[in-house]
Amino acid sequence: METIKRTRIVDLLKGDAYGTTVNVKGWVRTRRGSKQVSFIALNDGSTINNVQIVVNGDNFDEEYMKPITTGASLSVNGILVKSQGKGQSVEIQATEIQIYGTADPATYPLQKKGHSMEFLREIAHLRPRTNTFGAIFRIRHNMAYAIHKFFHEKGFFYFHTPLITASDCEGAGQMFQVTTMNLYNLKKDEKGSIIYDDDFFGKQASLTVSGQLEGELAATALGQIYTFGPTFRAENSNTPRHLAEFWMIEPEMAFYDIADNMDLAEEFIKYCVQWALDNCKDDLQFLNDMFDKGLITRLQDVIKESFVRLPYTEGIKILEEAVANGHKFEFPVYWGVDLAAEHERFLVEDHFKRPVILTDYPKEIKAFYMKQNEDGKTVRAMDVLFPKIGEIIGGSEREADYDKLLNRINELKIPMKDMWWYLDTRRFGTVPHSGFGLGFERLLLFVTGMTNIRDVIPFPRTPKNADF
Ligand code: ATP
Ligand code: MN
Repeated sequence: METIKRTRIVDLLKGDAYGTTVNVKGWVRTRRGSKQVSFIALNDGSTINNVQIVVNGDNFDEEYMKPITTGASLSVNGILVKSQGKGQSVEIQATEIQIYGTADPATYPLQKKGHSMEFLREIAHLRPRTNTFGAIFRIRHNMAYAIHKFFHEKGFFYFHTPLITASDCEGAGQMFQVTTMNLYNLKKDEKGSIIYDDDFFGKQASLTVSGQLEGELAATALGQIYTFGPTFRAENSNTPRHLAEFWMIEPEMAFYDIADNMDLAEEFIKYCVQWALDNCKDDLQFLNDMFDKGLITRLQDVIKESFVRLPYTEGIKILEEAVANGHKFEFPVYWGVDLAAEHERFLVEDHFKRPVILTDYPKEIKAFYMKQNEDGKTVRAMDVLFPKIGEIIGGSEREADYDKLLNRINELKIPMKDMWWYLDTRRFGTVPHSGFGLGFERLLLFVTGMTNIRDVIPFPRTPKNADF
Protein backbone atom coordinates (compact mmCIF):
# COMPACT_ATOMS: atom_id res chain seq x y z
CA MET A 1 0.00 0.00 0.00
CA GLU A 2 1.30 3.42 -0.92
CA THR A 3 2.40 5.51 2.06
CA ILE A 4 0.42 8.72 2.30
CA LYS A 5 0.44 11.04 5.30
CA ARG A 6 -2.65 10.40 7.39
CA THR A 7 -5.32 13.09 7.67
CA ARG A 8 -7.54 13.11 10.72
CA ILE A 9 -11.19 12.96 9.81
CA VAL A 10 -12.02 16.18 11.67
CA ASP A 11 -9.57 18.02 9.40
CA LEU A 12 -10.52 16.13 6.29
CA LEU A 13 -14.18 17.10 6.61
CA LYS A 14 -13.22 20.77 6.80
CA GLY A 15 -11.20 20.63 3.60
CA ASP A 16 -12.13 20.66 -0.05
CA ALA A 17 -8.97 19.55 -1.83
CA TYR A 18 -11.01 17.53 -4.31
CA GLY A 19 -9.03 15.20 -6.51
CA THR A 20 -6.11 14.74 -4.14
CA THR A 21 -5.21 11.35 -2.74
CA VAL A 22 -5.57 11.14 1.03
CA ASN A 23 -5.15 8.59 3.77
CA VAL A 24 -7.48 8.09 6.70
CA LYS A 25 -7.36 5.51 9.46
CA GLY A 26 -10.14 4.54 11.80
CA TRP A 27 -12.83 2.10 12.84
CA VAL A 28 -15.80 1.03 10.77
CA ARG A 29 -19.08 2.28 12.18
CA THR A 30 -21.27 0.75 9.50
CA ARG A 31 -20.97 -0.80 6.11
CA ARG A 32 -23.79 -1.06 3.64
CA GLY A 33 -24.28 -1.42 -0.08
CA SER A 34 -23.99 -4.12 -2.67
CA LYS A 35 -21.39 -6.18 -4.52
CA GLN A 36 -20.98 -3.35 -7.02
CA VAL A 37 -20.54 -0.51 -4.60
CA SER A 38 -20.36 -0.40 -0.84
CA PHE A 39 -20.23 2.47 1.61
CA ILE A 40 -18.13 2.41 4.77
CA ALA A 41 -18.73 4.96 7.51
CA LEU A 42 -15.31 5.39 9.10
CA ASN A 43 -14.66 7.16 12.40
CA ASP A 44 -11.30 7.92 13.98
CA GLY A 45 -12.47 9.56 17.21
CA SER A 46 -11.36 13.05 16.19
CA THR A 47 -14.97 14.10 15.64
CA ILE A 48 -18.45 12.69 15.98
CA ASN A 49 -18.72 12.79 12.20
CA ASN A 50 -17.76 9.84 10.02
CA VAL A 51 -16.20 10.04 6.63
CA GLN A 52 -17.85 8.00 3.94
CA ILE A 53 -15.61 5.61 2.02
CA VAL A 54 -16.99 4.55 -1.34
CA VAL A 55 -15.72 1.15 -2.45
CA ASN A 56 -16.18 0.18 -6.07
CA GLY A 57 -16.66 -3.59 -6.33
CA ASP A 58 -14.67 -3.70 -9.59
CA ASN A 59 -11.48 -2.63 -7.82
CA PHE A 60 -11.67 -4.78 -4.69
CA ASP A 61 -11.81 -8.49 -4.13
CA GLU A 62 -15.05 -9.57 -2.51
CA GLU A 63 -13.33 -12.04 -0.20
CA TYR A 64 -10.91 -9.37 0.96
CA MET A 65 -13.76 -7.00 1.73
CA LYS A 66 -15.79 -9.54 3.70
CA PRO A 67 -14.27 -8.94 7.16
CA ILE A 68 -14.80 -5.18 6.86
CA THR A 69 -17.67 -5.06 9.33
CA THR A 70 -18.65 -2.80 12.23
CA GLY A 71 -15.69 -2.37 14.57
CA ALA A 72 -12.96 -3.39 12.11
CA SER A 73 -9.96 -1.07 11.88
CA LEU A 74 -8.72 0.20 8.55
CA SER A 75 -6.24 2.34 6.74
CA VAL A 76 -7.72 3.73 3.55
CA ASN A 77 -6.08 5.50 0.64
CA GLY A 78 -8.41 7.21 -1.76
CA ILE A 79 -9.38 10.23 -3.74
CA LEU A 80 -11.19 13.03 -2.01
CA VAL A 81 -14.37 13.91 -3.88
CA LYS A 82 -17.36 16.12 -3.35
CA SER A 83 -20.02 14.08 -1.66
CA GLN A 84 -23.11 12.97 -3.58
CA GLY A 85 -25.07 12.16 -0.45
CA LYS A 86 -26.53 14.70 1.90
CA GLY A 87 -25.16 15.45 5.35
CA GLN A 88 -21.52 15.46 4.37
CA SER A 89 -19.35 17.64 2.19
CA VAL A 90 -16.66 15.21 1.13
CA GLU A 91 -16.18 11.49 0.71
CA ILE A 92 -13.35 9.21 -0.30
CA GLN A 93 -13.25 6.96 -3.33
CA ALA A 94 -11.10 4.12 -2.07
CA THR A 95 -8.05 3.08 -4.07
CA GLU A 96 -6.36 0.90 -1.43
CA ILE A 97 -7.62 -0.55 1.84
CA GLN A 98 -5.53 -2.17 4.53
CA ILE A 99 -7.30 -4.06 7.29
CA TYR A 100 -5.55 -3.69 10.64
CA GLY A 101 -7.95 -5.77 12.68
CA THR A 102 -11.32 -7.38 12.27
CA ALA A 103 -14.24 -7.48 14.72
CA ASP A 104 -16.22 -10.69 14.43
CA PRO A 105 -19.91 -9.69 14.28
CA ALA A 106 -20.74 -12.79 16.29
CA THR A 107 -18.86 -11.50 19.31
CA TYR A 108 -18.30 -7.73 18.88
CA PRO A 109 -20.80 -6.19 21.31
CA LEU A 110 -21.34 -2.85 19.56
CA GLN A 111 -23.47 -4.00 16.67
CA LYS A 112 -26.66 -2.06 16.67
CA LYS A 113 -27.32 1.49 17.61
CA GLY A 114 -29.34 2.36 20.68
CA HIS A 115 -27.73 0.17 23.33
CA SER A 116 -28.94 1.13 26.80
CA MET A 117 -26.66 3.20 29.01
CA GLU A 118 -26.78 0.37 31.56
CA PHE A 119 -25.53 -2.15 29.03
CA LEU A 120 -22.78 0.21 27.88
CA ARG A 121 -21.56 0.55 31.48
CA GLU A 122 -20.96 -3.19 31.46
CA ILE A 123 -18.69 -2.76 28.47
CA ALA A 124 -17.00 0.42 29.63
CA HIS A 125 -13.83 -0.68 27.87
CA LEU A 126 -15.59 -0.39 24.49
CA ARG A 127 -18.15 2.32 25.07
CA PRO A 128 -15.78 5.16 24.06
CA ARG A 129 -16.24 3.78 20.53
CA THR A 130 -19.89 4.77 20.49
CA ASN A 131 -21.03 8.14 19.21
CA THR A 132 -22.43 9.04 22.60
CA PHE A 133 -19.31 8.36 24.63
CA GLY A 134 -17.03 9.76 21.98
CA ALA A 135 -18.98 13.01 22.32
CA ILE A 136 -18.92 12.90 26.12
CA PHE A 137 -15.20 12.29 26.39
CA ARG A 138 -14.31 14.95 23.84
CA ILE A 139 -16.42 17.38 25.86
CA ARG A 140 -14.73 16.16 29.04
CA HIS A 141 -11.35 17.00 27.57
CA ASN A 142 -12.57 20.39 26.45
CA MET A 143 -13.92 21.21 29.89
CA ALA A 144 -10.61 20.28 31.53
CA TYR A 145 -8.81 22.51 29.07
CA ALA A 146 -11.25 25.38 29.63
CA ILE A 147 -10.77 25.13 33.38
CA HIS A 148 -7.00 25.43 33.17
CA LYS A 149 -7.32 28.23 30.63
CA PHE A 150 -9.78 30.17 32.78
CA PHE A 151 -7.62 30.09 35.88
CA HIS A 152 -4.36 30.65 34.07
CA GLU A 153 -5.74 33.74 32.38
CA LYS A 154 -6.92 35.06 35.74
CA GLY A 155 -3.47 34.65 37.26
CA PHE A 156 -4.22 31.59 39.36
CA PHE A 157 -1.53 28.97 39.91
CA TYR A 158 -2.24 25.27 39.48
CA PHE A 159 -1.15 23.77 42.77
CA HIS A 160 -0.77 20.03 43.35
CA THR A 161 -2.12 18.85 46.68
CA PRO A 162 -1.41 15.31 47.90
CA LEU A 163 -3.71 12.39 47.22
CA ILE A 164 -2.52 10.53 50.29
CA THR A 165 -3.26 12.25 53.55
CA ALA A 166 -2.92 11.49 57.24
CA SER A 167 -5.47 14.05 58.38
CA ASP A 168 -9.10 13.02 58.70
CA CYS A 169 -10.83 16.21 59.68
CA GLU A 170 -12.73 17.27 56.60
CA GLY A 171 -15.71 15.17 57.52
CA ALA A 172 -16.67 15.22 53.85
CA GLY A 173 -17.34 11.50 53.79
CA GLN A 174 -15.85 8.14 54.56
CA MET A 175 -12.21 7.78 53.58
CA PHE A 176 -10.40 4.94 51.85
CA GLN A 177 -7.51 3.75 53.94
CA VAL A 178 -4.05 3.40 52.40
CA THR A 179 -1.88 0.71 53.93
CA THR A 180 0.84 -1.81 53.17
CA MET A 181 0.05 -3.81 56.29
CA ASN A 182 -0.77 -7.47 56.01
CA LEU A 183 -4.50 -7.47 56.66
CA TYR A 184 -4.42 -11.14 57.60
CA ASN A 185 -1.96 -10.51 60.38
CA LEU A 186 -2.55 -7.09 61.94
CA LYS A 187 -0.50 -5.98 64.94
CA LYS A 188 -2.80 -4.83 67.74
CA ASP A 189 -2.29 -3.45 71.24
CA GLU A 190 -3.83 -5.01 74.36
CA LYS A 191 -7.07 -3.02 73.75
CA GLY A 192 -7.36 -4.45 70.26
CA SER A 193 -6.47 -1.21 68.44
CA ILE A 194 -4.33 -1.55 65.36
CA ILE A 195 -0.72 -0.45 65.77
CA TYR A 196 0.28 1.65 62.79
CA ASP A 197 3.94 2.21 63.73
CA ASP A 198 5.15 -0.33 61.21
CA ASP A 199 2.76 0.74 58.46
CA PHE A 200 4.23 2.52 55.45
CA PHE A 201 3.66 6.03 56.79
CA GLY A 202 4.00 5.07 60.45
CA LYS A 203 0.43 6.19 61.01
CA GLN A 204 -3.03 5.73 59.61
CA ALA A 205 -3.27 7.24 56.12
CA SER A 206 -6.08 7.64 53.61
CA LEU A 207 -6.91 8.89 50.15
CA THR A 208 -7.87 12.55 50.14
CA VAL A 209 -11.51 13.69 50.19
CA SER A 210 -10.49 17.26 49.29
CA GLY A 211 -7.37 19.25 48.58
CA GLN A 212 -8.75 22.32 50.28
CA LEU A 213 -6.74 22.38 53.49
CA GLU A 214 -3.46 22.20 51.63
CA GLY A 215 -4.93 24.60 49.08
CA GLU A 216 -5.34 27.15 51.86
CA LEU A 217 -1.65 26.86 52.65
CA ALA A 218 -0.89 27.69 49.03
CA ALA A 219 -3.41 30.55 48.78
CA THR A 220 -1.88 32.21 51.82
CA ALA A 221 1.43 32.21 49.98
CA LEU A 222 0.79 32.46 46.25
CA GLY A 223 -2.39 34.52 46.60
CA GLN A 224 -4.72 32.57 44.33
CA ILE A 225 -4.39 28.95 43.40
CA TYR A 226 -6.52 26.08 42.17
CA THR A 227 -6.26 22.35 42.40
CA PHE A 228 -7.66 19.92 39.85
CA GLY A 229 -7.27 16.30 40.71
CA PRO A 230 -8.78 13.01 41.80
CA THR A 231 -10.79 12.90 45.02
CA PHE A 232 -11.97 9.83 46.87
CA ARG A 233 -15.03 9.35 49.01
CA ALA A 234 -16.09 5.96 50.32
CA GLU A 235 -19.62 7.18 50.87
CA ASN A 236 -21.95 4.31 50.31
CA SER A 237 -24.44 6.44 48.48
CA ASN A 238 -25.56 4.76 45.32
CA THR A 239 -26.95 7.88 43.67
CA PRO A 240 -26.74 9.17 40.10
CA ARG A 241 -24.64 12.10 41.43
CA HIS A 242 -21.96 10.38 43.54
CA LEU A 243 -18.79 8.55 42.61
CA ALA A 244 -16.23 6.98 44.93
CA GLU A 245 -13.48 8.44 42.73
CA PHE A 246 -14.16 11.78 41.10
CA TRP A 247 -12.27 14.87 40.01
CA MET A 248 -12.56 18.13 41.82
CA ILE A 249 -11.49 21.67 41.03
CA GLU A 250 -10.76 23.71 44.14
CA PRO A 251 -9.78 27.36 43.78
CA GLU A 252 -8.64 29.10 46.95
CA MET A 253 -8.11 32.87 47.12
CA ALA A 254 -6.49 35.11 49.69
CA PHE A 255 -8.31 38.43 50.30
CA TYR A 256 -11.59 37.14 48.79
CA ASP A 257 -14.74 37.47 50.87
CA ILE A 258 -17.82 35.41 50.17
CA ALA A 259 -19.20 37.91 47.64
CA ASP A 260 -15.93 37.73 45.67
CA ASN A 261 -16.14 33.97 45.96
CA MET A 262 -19.65 33.92 44.49
CA ASP A 263 -18.62 36.24 41.66
CA LEU A 264 -15.76 33.93 40.78
CA ALA A 265 -17.89 30.77 40.92
CA GLU A 266 -20.50 32.30 38.64
CA GLU A 267 -17.98 33.65 36.16
CA PHE A 268 -16.12 30.34 36.18
CA ILE A 269 -19.10 28.13 35.39
CA LYS A 270 -20.35 30.50 32.72
CA TYR A 271 -16.92 30.50 31.10
CA CYS A 272 -16.87 26.70 31.00
CA VAL A 273 -20.36 26.47 29.55
CA GLN A 274 -19.57 29.12 26.94
CA TRP A 275 -16.44 27.19 26.02
CA ALA A 276 -18.50 24.07 25.43
CA LEU A 277 -20.99 25.96 23.28
CA ASP A 278 -18.18 27.48 21.22
CA ASN A 279 -15.90 24.46 20.91
CA CYS A 280 -18.05 21.34 21.19
CA LYS A 281 -20.83 22.25 18.77
CA ASP A 282 -21.16 18.95 16.90
CA ASP A 283 -20.97 16.84 20.03
CA LEU A 284 -23.50 18.99 21.91
CA GLN A 285 -25.84 18.98 18.93
CA PHE A 286 -25.65 15.19 18.83
CA LEU A 287 -26.41 14.84 22.55
CA ASN A 288 -29.16 17.43 22.23
CA ASP A 289 -30.82 15.53 19.39
CA MET A 290 -30.33 12.06 20.87
CA PHE A 291 -31.07 12.51 24.55
CA ASP A 292 -32.24 15.90 25.66
CA LYS A 293 -33.89 18.37 23.31
CA GLY A 294 -33.54 21.11 25.92
CA LEU A 295 -29.81 20.75 26.43
CA ILE A 296 -28.38 23.54 24.28
CA THR A 297 -31.11 25.98 25.33
CA ARG A 298 -30.40 25.18 28.96
CA LEU A 299 -26.69 25.89 28.46
CA GLN A 300 -27.44 29.17 26.70
CA ASP A 301 -29.86 30.21 29.43
CA VAL A 302 -27.36 29.64 32.22
CA ILE A 303 -24.94 32.03 30.57
CA LYS A 304 -27.56 34.73 30.10
CA GLU A 305 -29.05 34.75 33.57
CA SER A 306 -27.45 36.03 36.74
CA PHE A 307 -27.55 33.47 39.52
CA VAL A 308 -29.93 34.06 42.41
CA ARG A 309 -28.12 34.73 45.71
CA LEU A 310 -30.20 33.70 48.67
CA PRO A 311 -29.60 32.96 52.35
CA TYR A 312 -30.38 29.38 53.41
CA THR A 313 -33.01 30.69 55.86
CA GLU A 314 -34.91 32.32 52.98
CA GLY A 315 -34.59 29.15 50.95
CA ILE A 316 -36.15 27.13 53.76
CA LYS A 317 -39.05 29.58 53.90
CA ILE A 318 -39.72 29.08 50.20
CA LEU A 319 -39.62 25.31 50.60
CA GLU A 320 -41.89 25.37 53.64
CA GLU A 321 -44.35 27.51 51.71
CA ALA A 322 -44.29 24.99 48.88
CA VAL A 323 -45.05 22.19 51.32
CA ALA A 324 -47.89 24.26 52.79
CA ASN A 325 -49.26 24.68 49.27
CA GLY A 326 -49.29 20.94 48.76
CA HIS A 327 -45.91 20.20 47.17
CA LYS A 328 -44.71 16.74 48.20
CA PHE A 329 -41.04 16.16 49.04
CA GLU A 330 -39.65 12.77 49.95
CA PHE A 331 -37.53 14.28 52.75
CA PRO A 332 -38.78 16.73 55.42
CA VAL A 333 -38.06 20.47 55.26
CA TYR A 334 -37.21 22.49 58.38
CA TRP A 335 -34.60 25.03 59.43
CA GLY A 336 -31.40 23.11 60.10
CA VAL A 337 -31.96 20.33 57.58
CA ASP A 338 -29.22 19.43 55.11
CA LEU A 339 -31.03 20.00 51.83
CA ALA A 340 -31.64 17.01 49.59
CA ALA A 341 -31.26 17.21 45.83
CA GLU A 342 -35.07 17.40 45.46
CA HIS A 343 -35.13 20.56 47.61
CA GLU A 344 -32.24 22.12 45.73
CA ARG A 345 -33.84 21.33 42.41
CA PHE A 346 -37.19 22.74 43.51
CA LEU A 347 -35.58 26.10 44.25
CA VAL A 348 -33.74 26.11 40.93
CA GLU A 349 -36.19 24.50 38.53
CA ASP A 350 -39.60 25.35 39.96
CA HIS A 351 -39.22 28.49 42.01
CA PHE A 352 -36.50 30.68 40.51
CA LYS A 353 -36.00 28.92 37.16
CA ARG A 354 -32.30 29.75 37.18
CA PRO A 355 -29.20 28.75 39.17
CA VAL A 356 -29.22 29.63 42.85
CA ILE A 357 -26.33 30.33 45.21
CA LEU A 358 -27.52 29.49 48.69
CA THR A 359 -25.51 31.10 51.49
CA ASP A 360 -25.26 31.26 55.27
CA TYR A 361 -26.10 27.68 56.18
CA PRO A 362 -26.55 26.44 59.76
CA LYS A 363 -23.11 25.74 61.17
CA GLU A 364 -24.14 22.23 62.28
CA ILE A 365 -24.41 20.96 58.72
CA LYS A 366 -21.22 22.60 57.44
CA ALA A 367 -17.51 22.05 57.92
CA PHE A 368 -15.52 23.45 60.85
CA TYR A 369 -13.39 25.81 58.78
CA MET A 370 -16.21 28.03 57.51
CA LYS A 371 -16.35 31.65 58.71
CA GLN A 372 -18.81 32.05 61.56
CA ASN A 373 -21.49 34.70 61.20
CA GLU A 374 -22.40 37.20 63.91
CA ASP A 375 -25.68 35.40 64.63
CA GLY A 376 -23.78 32.48 66.18
CA LYS A 377 -25.96 30.07 64.20
CA THR A 378 -24.85 30.23 60.60
CA VAL A 379 -21.62 30.15 58.65
CA ARG A 380 -20.55 31.90 55.48
CA ALA A 381 -21.05 28.89 53.24
CA MET A 382 -22.18 29.02 49.64
CA ASP A 383 -23.56 26.16 47.59
CA VAL A 384 -24.21 26.69 43.92
CA LEU A 385 -27.35 24.82 42.89
CA PHE A 386 -28.02 23.91 39.28
CA PRO A 387 -30.94 22.68 37.21
CA LYS A 388 -31.04 18.88 36.87
CA ILE A 389 -28.08 18.48 39.23
CA GLY A 390 -28.67 20.18 42.55
CA GLU A 391 -25.38 21.05 44.25
CA ILE A 392 -22.61 21.56 41.72
CA ILE A 393 -20.31 23.71 43.89
CA GLY A 394 -19.76 23.82 47.64
CA GLY A 395 -17.66 26.61 49.09
CA SER A 396 -17.26 29.23 51.77
CA GLU A 397 -15.36 32.11 53.17
CA ARG A 398 -12.95 30.50 55.62
CA GLU A 399 -12.69 31.31 59.32
CA ALA A 400 -9.54 33.42 59.50
CA ASP A 401 -9.59 34.00 63.26
CA TYR A 402 -7.34 31.59 65.13
CA ASP A 403 -9.36 31.50 68.36
CA LYS A 404 -12.72 31.11 66.70
CA LEU A 405 -11.38 28.33 64.51
CA LEU A 406 -9.83 26.52 67.46
CA ASN A 407 -13.04 26.84 69.50
CA ARG A 408 -15.03 25.29 66.70
CA ILE A 409 -12.50 22.48 66.35
CA ASN A 410 -12.73 21.75 70.06
CA GLU A 411 -16.53 21.95 70.02
CA LEU A 412 -16.63 19.34 67.28
CA LYS A 413 -13.89 17.27 68.96
CA ILE A 414 -11.99 17.13 65.68
CA PRO A 415 -8.69 15.27 66.11
CA MET A 416 -6.24 18.10 65.46
CA LYS A 417 -3.00 16.49 66.47
CA ASP A 418 -2.06 16.01 62.85
CA MET A 419 -3.43 19.43 61.89
CA TRP A 420 -1.02 21.84 63.52
CA TRP A 421 0.18 22.88 60.09
CA TYR A 422 -3.31 23.99 59.07
CA LEU A 423 -3.69 26.16 62.17
CA ASP A 424 -0.39 27.85 61.33
CA THR A 425 -2.13 29.66 58.44
CA ARG A 426 -4.13 31.49 61.17
CA ARG A 427 -1.20 31.87 63.56
CA PHE A 428 1.11 33.55 61.08
CA GLY A 429 -0.12 36.32 58.84
CA THR A 430 -3.72 35.19 58.69
CA VAL A 431 -5.89 36.82 56.01
CA PRO A 432 -9.52 36.71 54.96
CA HIS A 433 -9.79 34.07 52.28
CA SER A 434 -12.33 31.97 50.42
CA GLY A 435 -12.61 29.05 48.10
CA PHE A 436 -14.88 26.43 46.67
CA GLY A 437 -14.98 22.95 45.19
CA LEU A 438 -16.55 22.12 41.86
CA GLY A 439 -17.18 18.45 41.14
CA PHE A 440 -15.87 18.00 37.61
CA GLU A 441 -18.33 15.23 36.83
CA ARG A 442 -21.24 17.29 38.15
CA LEU A 443 -20.25 20.03 35.71
CA LEU A 444 -20.11 17.41 32.96
CA LEU A 445 -23.57 16.14 33.87
CA PHE A 446 -24.84 19.63 33.30
CA VAL A 447 -22.93 20.27 30.09
CA THR A 448 -23.68 16.90 28.46
CA GLY A 449 -27.23 16.50 29.75
CA MET A 450 -26.42 12.99 30.96
CA THR A 451 -28.47 11.93 33.95
CA ASN A 452 -26.11 9.45 35.61
CA ILE A 453 -22.65 10.47 36.80
CA ARG A 454 -21.35 7.01 35.81
CA ASP A 455 -21.72 8.10 32.20
CA VAL A 456 -19.45 11.15 32.25
CA ILE A 457 -16.28 9.51 33.60
CA PRO A 458 -14.47 6.86 31.56
CA PHE A 459 -14.24 4.21 34.26
CA PRO A 460 -16.63 4.87 37.14
CA ARG A 461 -15.85 3.68 40.67
CA THR A 462 -18.95 3.16 42.77
CA PRO A 463 -19.91 0.77 45.57
CA LYS A 464 -19.20 -2.82 44.43
CA ASN A 465 -17.86 -1.64 41.11
CA ALA A 466 -14.21 -1.16 40.17
CA ASP A 467 -14.04 -3.12 36.93
CA PHE A 468 -11.86 -2.03 34.04
P1 ATP B 1 -23.29 16.32 48.17
O1 ATP B 1 -24.06 17.05 49.23
O2 ATP B 1 -23.85 16.44 46.80
O3 ATP B 1 -22.95 14.91 48.56
P2 ATP B 1 -20.97 17.48 49.36
O4 ATP B 1 -21.62 18.56 50.10
O5 ATP B 1 -20.52 16.27 50.06
O6 ATP B 1 -21.88 17.05 48.09
P3 ATP B 1 -18.58 19.03 48.97
O7 ATP B 1 -17.84 18.39 50.09
O8 ATP B 1 -19.09 20.40 49.15
O9 ATP B 1 -19.76 18.07 48.50
O10 ATP B 1 -17.68 18.90 47.65
C1 ATP B 1 -17.63 19.90 46.64
C2 ATP B 1 -18.22 19.40 45.33
O11 ATP B 1 -17.70 18.14 44.95
C3 ATP B 1 -19.71 19.18 45.37
O12 ATP B 1 -20.39 20.40 45.21
C4 ATP B 1 -19.93 18.26 44.22
O13 ATP B 1 -19.93 18.98 42.99
C5 ATP B 1 -18.69 17.40 44.23
N1 ATP B 1 -18.88 16.11 44.88
C6 ATP B 1 -18.97 15.84 46.20
N2 ATP B 1 -19.08 14.55 46.45
C7 ATP B 1 -19.06 13.93 45.24
C8 ATP B 1 -19.12 12.56 44.83
N3 ATP B 1 -19.19 11.56 45.70
N4 ATP B 1 -19.06 12.30 43.50
C9 ATP B 1 -18.96 13.31 42.61
N5 ATP B 1 -18.89 14.60 42.93
C10 ATP B 1 -18.94 14.93 44.24
MN1 MN C 1 -21.35 20.62 49.81
